[in-house]
Amino acid sequence: MKFSDVAMSLKASEIRELLKLTTMPEIISFAGGLPAPAKLPIEDMEKVDVEILRKEGRQAVQYGTTEGYNPLREKIAKRMKSAFGVDCTAEDLIVTAGSQQGLSMLAQIFLNKDDIVLVESPTYLGAINAFKLVFPTIHEVPTDDKGIIPEALEKILAENDRVRMMYVIPEFQNPTGVTWPLERRKAVMDIMNKHEIPVIEDNPYSRLRYDGERVPTLKSMDTKGNVIFLGSFSKIFMPGFRIGWMVANPEIIDKVVKLKQAVDLQTSSFGQRQASFYMDMFDLDKHVETIRKLYGERRTLMCDCMKKYFPEGVTFTYPEGGLFTWVTLPEGIDAKELMPKVLEQNVAYVPGGPFYPNGGHANHFRLNYSNMPPERIEEGIKRLGEVLKRELGK
Ligand code: PMP
Repeated sequence: MKFSDVAMSLKASEIRELLKLTTMPEIISFAGGLPAPAKLPIEDMEKVDVEILRKEGRQAVQYGTTEGYNPLREKIAKRMKSAFGVDCTAEDLIVTAGSQQGLSMLAQIFLNKDDIVLVESPTYLGAINAFKLVFPTIHEVPTDDKGIIPEALEKILAENDRVRMMYVIPEFQNPTGVTWPLERRKAVMDIMNKHEIPVIEDNPYSRLRYDGERVPTLKSMDTKGNVIFLGSFSKIFMPGFRIGWMVANPEIIDKVVKLKQAVDLQTSSFGQRQASFYMDMFDLDKHVETIRKLYGERRTLMCDCMKKYFPEGVTFTYPEGGLFTWVTLPEGIDAKELMPKVLEQNVAYVPGGPFYPNGGHANHFRLNYSNMPPERIEEGIKRLGEVLKRELGK
């Protein structure tokens, strides 16, 4: 059978294969980015589903517009102001099948083969995978503990004239947990505004802040219409609905709407109503508050346990929010090679190498703290610490 270049470029991920094991109940998995299962509000959803069908009947399961279900778009527009400081109307946004679809569509509308997309080093693996399908050059911009380094960004832009977009996660980054402070955001936006290059601000986590002050979003500082904001209900509500959204200037939204018509016509009519009716019938902010508190406790517990059980020479980030902490091992230790030993102890993490699109950096791994209950967090970190101590000869 003859397949396309895209099909031939798809590789089975060794990590995915390893992570399949992590669904076994005995595994203490810090691998995925899953919400705590006990907190998914399924009892409320029973009521929501009945109400949707009672109130909207067959309309709820009909085709709808590509832009999305209007009552949901209206609600999202309001939340853009209250939660993200962005003035916009329903017209400025499109509902997507998760922010992952937004990433994939943006790659298709901005990138030709060999065009350059800038990303943080490291960055979200799912974005790397989405971008790769259009065969761009993925250029990693150096970062520190405050995000992208402006001087490095400026230099890359001066030396490359094929940069067509930049992708960033300024709040509680996946995988590192890092948040860019205000000064850093301003500096990066000053540079990007001069160059008129689209900036994708991926923001699935910012409602999950456990300490520190809220920092303005890049989109709220956007004076040129260059920032494209991606939001998602996955981490604050339920990921299986696959509901996200994109806010961008009308020229971009127009292209994305046309593309989405070719991709999937529209996001699920029923799924969009589930999110919208839930917000009418229940208090989403109250739900967010419940999980925020829970995940915050788990973040603190995991970091305390790492301090207690990890050997000297192993460092980790202390995120102010989001779902992940990023662990750095001494140079020369490969987290992927260590993985079988860790799995033997029924513990799982995600090795850090694949978060760097151009390879290297094998001495990191990512840990998630939202999905496991406290006693399993402590036990898992203890076991992980024992493996690390043996490996480091401590
Ligand atoms: N962006 C980032 C940074 C993520 O961590 C994730 C999910 N892990 C996504 C996008 C995709 O989320 P969604 O479920 O909205 O497609």
